[in-house]
Amino acid sequence: MACKRTSLSRRTFLQIGGAGIAAAGLTAIAASTGEAAPPRPPGALEEGAFLARCARCMRCVDACIPLALRPGGWLDGGRNLGTPVLDPAKCIFCMECVRTCPTGALEKIPKAEVDIGEIVIVQDVCLAWRKTRRCDICFKACPAKAITMQDRRFPVLSKPEKCNGCGICVRRCPEAGSILMTDKGANRPAPPPGHLLTHLEDRVGPYEIAPPPWSQWFQNRLLTLAQHFGLASR
Ligand code: SF4
Ligand code: SF4
Ligand code: SF4
Repeated sequence: MACKRTSLSRRTFLQIGGAGIAAAGLTAIAASTGEAAPPRPPGALEEGAFLARCARCMRCVDACIPLALRPGGWLDGGRNLGTPVLDPAKCIFCMECVRTCPTGALEKIPKAEVDIGEIVIVQDVCLAWRKTRRCDICFKACPAKAITMQDRRFPVLSKPEKCNGCGICVRRCPEAGSILMTDKGANRPAPPPGHLLTHLEDRVGPYEIAPPPWSQWFQNRLLTLAQHFGLASR
């Protein structure tokens, strides 16, 4: 597959530079606290490399149309402050966050290589397991054929190695809470050798939605921050 090189604009450089300095300080302070890693967006490098590269610029949070990303807050731990935290059940693998990340914290891999975790079917909640009614919606929805119907009645994740955490079964399930998304088995990329800030290998493809002009980006950024701190409604 053809690869292309991307370079950073002056504005992007200043944004991530300023954010990166602040982030480096926070990460250094919190580095020894052993905080757990929250779920991360598609393409996120292994957690240590991700934290080192993420500039807390929140461009990925801004780009996420289904609001699957939020900036980490104090409750997520100091080292995660301002980093993107994913709600895997909402992510539609549109890859806009990956396209927009300027630092390589989100590796620009193609959608086919994304693996952010796997599901757990909660038998106490699932309509089929509780015998409330027959239901095989998750089985039919799974594009990876990771779910089978035990005794033709009960859905089970029989091929967990095929589940990439796409969340389609979660969104289609008519009974909320029947399918939980976990980061178990998530396959996060290692940083490629020679991975420099200004030379990012891009295999994710072109933007499907063009990024907004700077003035629009700045307005969106202020609004997102206000929403995050409860000063504006979503
Ligand atoms: S993952 Fe990338 S786009 Fe998102 S906050 Fe970190 S550096 Fe910015
Ligand atoms: S892939 Fe799309 S939906 Fe998923 S976190 Fe990134 S921007 Fe949001
Ligand atoms: S998350 Fe996606 S791949 Fe995994 S079982 Fe559900 S539909 Fe299949």
